[in-house]
Amino acid sequence: MIEIDGVSKAFGGLQAVHNVSFTVERGSITGLIGPNGAGKSTLFNIVAGVIPPDEGRIALDGQDITGLPPHQLFHRGLVRTFQIPHEFSRMTVRENLMIVPAGQQGESLLQSWLRWARIVRQDREILRRADEVLDFLEIGHLADELAGNLSGGQKKLLDLGRTMMTDARAVLLDEPGAGVNRTLLGKLAEAIERLNRERGYTFCVIEHDMDLIARLCDPVMVMANGELIASGSMETLRQDERVLEAYLGS
Ligand code: ADP
Ligand code: MG
Repeated sequence: MIEIDGVSKAFGGLQAVHNVSFTVERGSITGLIGPNGAGKSTLFNIVAGVIPPDEGRIALDGQDITGLPPHQLFHRGLVRTFQIPHEFSRMTVRENLMIVPAGQQGESLLQSWLRWARIVRQDREILRRADEVLDFLEIGHLADELAGNLSGGQKKLLDLGRTMMTDARAVLLDEPGAGVNRTLLGKLAEAIERLNRERGYTFCVIEHDMDLIARLCDPVMVMANGELIASGSMETLRQDERVLEAYLGS
């Protein structure tokens, strides 16, 4: 679904990503791991259109999307969780979900906020979808809570819910488990699995929690020092000397 072909990016003299190629297959939950500074987030930023690559191409469904801005990728169903604007802390969880379809037009936040009042009044369909998402994620009890009062893990669930309000088909998750407690981590993992199985979402997930990666992802790509050094199932990678070396050497 997503083809990354020979992508490189330097910041000044630092080669953050060097000639990386791999494919995220449709329907997969593909993992991306590697020590800090390996270039994982930079690669995500390139795929999501946040920064252009120095070299290489990105294709989505066989179409070249290199250099397309995030809102155009949005329309093609490719989203990065944190590219959706951060939650509005003084709006409720349900309102935070309802505002997303407005933001999809590539509008500024202010424009989408102004449109929001109209949407809440007029669009029962968006309200229905928001309630369905709350149900799916089992956070219906938080619907009227101000988003600012949520825990870190609950905000991650809200983030996932916000992608569900779009027509996303491919979702890039950068460390969904970071700062999330065990209980909510299980819930988050389950939501990702169900979105994959029941809704056909394709995921590419950067994560440091190896148990979470092992549970969710196959295959897993390993980056170190800007390069792709190995790939395969987590089982095989756990015994791969290049991978062990990369982590020990960091
Ligand atoms: P990872 O996500 O794997 O931890 P990053 O992609 O964030 O790694 O970073 C890769 C390297 O590029 C790091 O050395 C980081 O300091 C550097 N880097 C990332 N973004 C920038 C930037 N905007 N300007 C300069 N250096 C950057
Ligand atoms: Mg990172």
